[in-house]
Amino acid sequence: MLSDFIIIGGGISGLATAFKLRSEGAAVTLLERNEIGRESSWAGGGILYPLLPWDYTDPVNLLTRHSLDLYPQWIADIAEHSATDPEYRTTGMLVLPQFDLPKARAWCEANNTPYSHTQPFPGLPQGLWLPNVTQVRNPRLVRALREACQNIGVKLHENTTVNHIYGAQEHVSHLIANGQEWHAEQYILCSGAWSSKLLDNILPQRDLKPMRGQMLLYKTEAGALPTILYQNSLYLIPRQDGHILAGSTVEDAGFDKSSPPETLSWLARRSGEIFPLLADLQPIHHWAGLRPGSRDNIPLISRHPGLQNMWLNLGHFRYGVTMAPGSADLLAQLIAGEKPPLNMMPYQA
Ligand SMILES: Cc1cc2nc3c(=O)[nH]c(=O)nc-3n(C[C@H](O)[C@H](O)[C@H](O)COP(=O)(O)OP(=O)(O)OC[C@H]3O[C@@H](n4cnc5c(N)ncnc54)[C@H](O)[C@@H]3O)c2cc1C
Repeated sequence: MLSDFIIIGGGISGLATAFKLRSEGAAVTLLERNEIGRESSWAGGGILYPLLPWDYTDPVNLLTRHSLDLYPQWIADIAEHSATDPEYRTTGMLVLPQFDLPKARAWCEANNTPYSHTQPFPGLPQGLWLPNVTQVRNPRLVRALREACQNIGVKLHENTTVNHIYGAQEHVSHLIANGQEWHAEQYILCSGAWSSKLLDNILPQRDLKPMRGQMLLYKTEAGALPTILYQNSLYLIPRQDGHILAGSTVEDAGFDKSSPPETLSWLARRSGEIFPLLADLQPIHHWAGLRPGSRDNIPLISRHPGLQNMWLNLGHFRYGVTMAPGSADLLAQLIAGEKPPLNMMPYQA
């Protein structure tokens, strides 16, 4: 059977898009170069918040808000088709100085966001406490999504690299992946940090490029850190079982996923300064991931600028886990010819 859609890329953007379209009855095939959900979507932190939203523009915050509104139902929908618990939890976030407190307060008040300037937990310093911030354990979320997609009938093909997109007269005719032709009515590009390769760099103004991030992993007693801690671009994320993730860097290093020892030492030192328990512990693991960078962190959720039957859902940079259900929802509405609830101009290719 000819698929209605072929999705290129099996990270959270591709999986969320596949889940949405298949749930609405479409025949969906997803092609992934390696193993599904092992790139940026695995490597990330899973904080469902644009760290300091008062430093971002409306297109980032409005998309985030739309996505976070959908999150509880989305997690419930995935759970109907998967046994993996993505550990979707409200842990709050404590932002420690230095930051622009008046600007942060004004933003919270203008956006109905609960906050207080307080010391919410004994042993942690005073800061801006955002009690409603949620998180997921992103490797588990992508596993859950993969299972859900499989169980509702998305055709998943791993180790399948799309090398060429053939089009004529503003229309994609087929793809070549692993030396074979693949045909569908419509095509959706969700290939993360590698997207500009398949777009032939046609959107230079959007700065679509890999942006490396390093992570450290610690193991502590469960509950040792009760909330997400953030200070000067570094965050600590406590998991339910006592693991703590420390991240991250934002490095323009091309497709190089190495972890320079001096960067890891810097991350470890900063982690110990923010939460002294970590100063006495060695990280048990570290890794780097390639975020799908974009100008001002504004993703493309749009029809391809030159190809009528090709769509884009990519460039979510630092917040692709946060924005996943919202982006898939908006793209599905565009494809269906409906009017989405957000002004889509900023996300248009
Ligand atoms: C260190 C770090 C921390 C982060 N923390 C957070 C956070 O706390 N909260 C948050 O919301 N976001 C966070 N992010 C960002 C988030 O992880 C990304 O924005 C998101 O995962 C992007 O998803 P994606 O599906 O677009 O890309 P990816 O997950 O990278 O998936 C793209 C997929 O496309 C495949 N692909 C590429 N080219 C081809 C091809 N030619 N053919 C077939 N397949 C192809 C790749 O193999 C890959 O699997 C973080 C990222 C990093 C690296």
